Amino acid sequence: MTTASSSEQASHGNARICRGCWDQMHMPIPIGGPLALPFRALGITRSKMNPDICTICERSFKYVKKQRQITVDATILFADIRGFTDLSERIEAVQLSEIVSLFQDRCAQAIWAHDGIVNKQMGDGLMAIFNFPIVRKDHAAAAIRAAFEIQRNCAAALNGLVLDTLPGRTLGVGVGIHCGEVQIGEFSSFRSDFTAIGGVVNQAARLESQAAAGEILVSVETAVNASDLTAGAETRVLALKGIEQPVQARVLVKH
Ligand SMILES: [Zn+2]
Repeated sequence: MTTASSSEQASHGNARICRGCWDQMHMPIPIGGPLALPFRALGITRSKMNPDICTICERSFKYVKKQRQITVDATILFADIRGFTDLSERIEAVQLSEIVSLFQDRCAQAIWAHDGIVNKQMGDGLMAIFNFPIVRKDHAAAAIRAAFEIQRNCAAALNGLVLDTLPGRTLGVGVGIHCGEVQIGEFSSFRSDFTAIGGVVNQAARLESQAAAGEILVSVETAVNASDLTAGAETRVLALKGIEQPVQARVLVKH
């Protein structure tokens, strides 16, 4: 079952067996090809969080990990469309939904290409997790690479959509990234999909809220783990809501 190893799977959405179940349990769950058919009949399919994982690792966390929650070293990425609230008062609902779905699609492709999962989608924003359930030792670098792709893929496409209605107006995406220990598990009594919680998650969200259009704000901890991608980047000192001390972040912009 060497084909299941994370590093050997270059393309996303083509995995024959679930990479999450393999990395977490060493259990080969077929999600592509003829072997997947009986599983599909049982309702086990590719996950919407990432097509290379299955609905078992998406919805049956307690089965996969034999615990209610675990502590994982992970990287958390938040992204959203800057100025969306203001925009939503100026353009029609149809166009607004086109913008949101284009943003969500482009972000998901970038995140999947680097083995992350789109854990939550919140209208004009999303939260991604790197290093669970697909294991990536270089999860900080993977998240930063995904963020660059998000910026590259979204800017032109979003502006193409908004240009006709609001000439002169540009639309951009803000991204925040932080890494460290997070709690992963099922934290809801009425939903069974897992998520990540903790201070690291909060700080990633706060960084994103401070990112201007086109910016990727990366915590110092994340930058240290991906020095080749963050060398020479501007340092900015931020006062983040809910965090007492000023926080240093590196500012990355798309090239
Ligand atoms: Zn799985």
